[in-house]
Amino acid sequence: MSPREVPFARVAIDETDIAAVVETLRSGWITTGSRVAELEAEFCRISGARYGLGVNSATAALHLALLGWRIGPGDEVILPAMTFASCATVVMETGATPVLADICADDMTIDPESVERLISPRTRVIMAVHYAGQPARMAELQALAEGRNIKILEDAAHAPGALYKESPAGSLGDAAAFSLYATKNVTSGEGGVLVSDDEELIDRARMLSLHGMSRDAWKRYSATEGTWRYEVIERGYKYNLSDLLATLGVNQVRRLGELNVARTRAAGLYKRLLADVEQVEALSVRPEVTHAWHLYVVKLRLDRMRIDRARFIELLRERGVDTSVHFIPIHHHPAFKDIPADLPETDAAFERIISLPMYSGLSDEDIEYVAACVSEIARENRR
Ligand SMILES: *Cc1c(COP(=O)(O)O)cnc(C)c1O
Repeated sequence: MSPREVPFARVAIDETDIAAVVETLRSGWITTGSRVAELEAEFCRISGARYGLGVNSATAALHLALLGWRIGPGDEVILPAMTFASCATVVMETGATPVLADICADDMTIDPESVERLISPRTRVIMAVHYAGQPARMAELQALAEGRNIKILEDAAHAPGALYKESPAGSLGDAAAFSLYATKNVTSGEGGVLVSDDEELIDRARMLSLHGMSRDAWKRYSATEGTWRYEVIERGYKYNLSDLLATLGVNQVRRLGELNVARTRAAGLYKRLLADVEQVEALSVRPEVTHAWHLYVVKLRLDRMRIDRARFIELLRERGVDTSVHFIPIHHHPAFKDIPADLPETDAAFERIISLPMYSGLSDEDIEYVAACVSEIARENRR
């Protein structure tokens, strides 16, 4: 037995979360309704966006944004290879072509110079992933999009509450997707929110999120037709969120500030405790951002060690510390092996990255223990 067990992630469910869900259960309405509307309003509040749509995942939100903009066959969407697989899946679902961009070595966000090289007359969207909770280089990406009819879709799954030059994630592009997956900064169990200032986009995404049913079509019929009539005006999806889940998300997002403060404290402590370990590098945090610290990612200096990343992870596990890797790059998955990828920084980073335990409930003792294990493994295996 190791002296301590530190899981990679742990949900921050408190008694008020439980009470909120129970109250919704007792209310008699558990599918999409007023709680989802509240969740949409909360995400508009934290992002500064005007309109929001609650759905059952960030994956659905990303897909709906692309469909809302009528992205399809013949179009290209540029996204970083260093992201979650579903970012590529949703592009392919629309019939468009995913084009994989490289990352900046220092902070692992999408590299605008790589994006610039990949832009073609077919480019319609750039997906700006706010990696680990650090907003992407938005000014540079905006400059590339400007005048070219290219939309910027923020993947803000890691970044609720993050700021870029004082503006919140979710207000930095043409639309943004947030995730409420269990390990994210705030959760509803499963869920996602699409936000945008573009009312037409959100209206269309809402229609497509519920089977392509028109909310308005049946209102055209007279009262004698009854309320049973609806019209499916376009082939849609079943992406709506339930009130039962949304109520948890609402209660959590109201604590976002406090939850992110705890993550920021944890990141600061990791940084300080690992500063002297020469085999381990922290990612840089650019001065114009406020980081949301969804992940605490370190890069191993493999040239200074006799072991590889997989062994490092194994040795941490033996000491009771669970870690992860964010991400296995898109083009490394069998499903996406046919996507062209000349991505030296992504491939180099992938060999070296480890995500250390990170959540709001991490204690100082947990962090000190994890840091001690990391330094010990680095020291014992240095070259
Ligand atoms: C988690 C995640 C997603 C997908 O979120 P879901 O809500 O699980 O669909 C998308 N992008 C990134 C970067 C993520 O980390």
